[in-house]
Amino acid sequence: MVSRVIPVDPFDLVIFGGTGDLARRKILPGLFRRFRSGQMPDGARIIAAARSELDRAGYQQMISDAIQEFGGAEKDDTEAVAKFLEVLDYTPIDAKGEGGWKALSKMVRKDVIQAFYFSVAPSLFGDLAQRLHDYKIANAESRIVVEKPFGRDLESAKELNKSLADHFDEKQIYRIDHYLGKETVQNLMAVRFGNVLFEPLWNNHYVDHIQITVAETVGVSGRGAYYDRSGAMRDMVQNHLMQLLCLIAMEPPSQFGADEVRDEKLKVIRALKGVEPHHIVRGQYDAGPDGPSYREDAENPRSFTESFIAMKCHIDNWRWAGVPFYMRTGKRMKARTSEIAVVFKDLGHSIFEGDEKRHRNILAIRLQPNEGIDLQVTIKEPGPGGMRLVDVPLDMTFAEALGAGEHEVTDAYERLIMDVIRGNQTLFMRGDEVEAAWAWTDPLINGWEARNDVPKLYDAGSSGPEDALMLLHREGRKWREIRG
Ligand code: NAD
Repeated sequence: MVSRVIPVDPFDLVIFGGTGDLARRKILPGLFRRFRSGQMPDGARIIAAARSELDRAGYQQMISDAIQEFGGAEKDDTEAVAKFLEVLDYTPIDAKGEGGWKALSKMVRKDVIQAFYFSVAPSLFGDLAQRLHDYKIANAESRIVVEKPFGRDLESAKELNKSLADHFDEKQIYRIDHYLGKETVQNLMAVRFGNVLFEPLWNNHYVDHIQITVAETVGVSGRGAYYDRSGAMRDMVQNHLMQLLCLIAMEPPSQFGADEVRDEKLKVIRALKGVEPHHIVRGQYDAGPDGPSYREDAENPRSFTESFIAMKCHIDNWRWAGVPFYMRTGKRMKARTSEIAVVFKDLGHSIFEGDEKRHRNILAIRLQPNEGIDLQVTIKEPGPGGMRLVDVPLDMTFAEALGAGEHEVTDAYERLIMDVIRGNQTLFMRGDEVEAAWAWTDPLINGWEARNDVPKLYDAGSSGPEDALMLLHREGRKWREIRG
């Protein structure tokens, strides 16, 4: 099988914050893999700009080390690593002052695609945008890539949007949500809109409810101070889980184009109803045999920040009227797993005597581990003794179905950066989407803050607080097992 890759024109990619954790762990190792697989054209250059007083050789060494640490199996291809390092350059820069900007201006070519990746704290976005404009480094075709968190509420998101919009058009701005770069997330759209089978059933006549689960086993130690000001709602729900919700719930766009897809996602967010306080369960992990409690990790003994959240939401439109969407995400949970499950309604009538079990078709889309799709169907239990029915999975793990090796698994970051160079915004969040998402989450957060809501404790290594299980139990439903 030969994969089709759209060729890319020569480019200059400037990475502000090129010495930071994200750049060393994800961005540069990802770019190296794209380089090695021949997706970077001759004449592509990567210019890192950060605070450290490094020279080019010093930066090349830093990235050589980063590739050894984070580069995956490809890191052993020393010839490719050496060639990739040749593509790199470095210049020290002060985002808040004037130091380094003239030098950068001389380095960036004007006659190739230009992308500027803001891999720095959001408080520097405005400064960078302003100076790129003042020093005439960027032009009307340049692309700006920004990282999460995009604000901590509607007001700060609006400010960030404005600081970029003062100098760049929305068509130039690429807001990264790396969940959108995951293979399965895109497959979600392929499954929905590329098959005749599912779309007719994708509504409140056939769907009982939808579950979205993103469970992590790690705690917040190491980033506790940051996390404690954020919490699961801001850190995960407002961006990643809402993006998944949009893709599962949106109407079919007229074509797979950036604005067509994003228009439909925006309509979903705008149609989300407010959530009753008793439909939100917030939790904090307790100390366990394997580690300290959330409050110890966050170094805040009185913290009311949630490391877990579960909620029941409704989308106020024709397609989804009456269908609950249950979302949950948390740290220090039983297993690391991300999954969207579409749970279909029971059969109205069973013709099989004695079969009292409620058989349900469930379409589960696994983001991790083992990216794939699993359709639960009901069949006859093999053997004599009458018609006994049993539910079995029709399981498709992509790596197996497509043949390992022929399709290398592309990391979300690599895919998204190459989309920036190609000028494809489909998998990036638009400014109005981000604002609409905050407009929905702000009142919920303000509500529990005003009530001084105390998160429920849950055991580390569990499925979250008991109340989260009850959210479904009391309606005769059940969360899917969190399995690694
Ligand atoms: P970091 O603290 O490790 O690195 C920050 C970088 O910014 C460094 O290269 C530093 O030199 C540069 N910098 C800081 N102040 C500067 C200034 N005044 N002028 C010029 N350069 C300056 O941060 P990080 O973890 O790499 O995160 C970068 C961005 O990515 C942040 O917005 C963060 O929220 C976001 N992000 C990070 C991760 C991650 O896994 N690290 C994940 C998602 C999003």
